[in-house]
Amino acid sequence: MVTRLRLLDDAAWVSVDDTREVGTGSVWPVAEPFCSCDLAWLVVEAYVEVGVDGRRVEARAHGHCVTCGESGTTDWLAVGRVTDAGFEPVGGTRGSRRGSPASGCRGEC
Ligand SMILES: [Zn+2]
Repeated sequence: MVTRLRLLDDAAWVSVDDTREVGTGSVWPVAEPFCSCDLAWLVVEAYVEVGVDGRRVEARAHGHCVTCGESGTTDWLAVGRVTDAGFEPVGGTRGSRRGSPASGCRGEC
């Protein structure tokens, strides 16, 4: 199965198989050490890189924590997965596993 990932509209959208699936402006609880908060509440402003590892779609996001205001770029976080029915976004707390997906790209891949 081939999954086509692109960043569209100045990295405001992650496109999966030519459909805008994951946008910016959402707030994610992030459990990785993004800032000094135990749990960061990240306002996603842009996507830096997207990648797919098997069926798992991952991205590095740029944004800031609404609690403390610190801004930065996350490690790779799961944003969704590709099922036989299409793309399924993940919810809940985002945490990164260490390491990068098999294929990462900036822009089009
Ligand atoms: Zn914070």
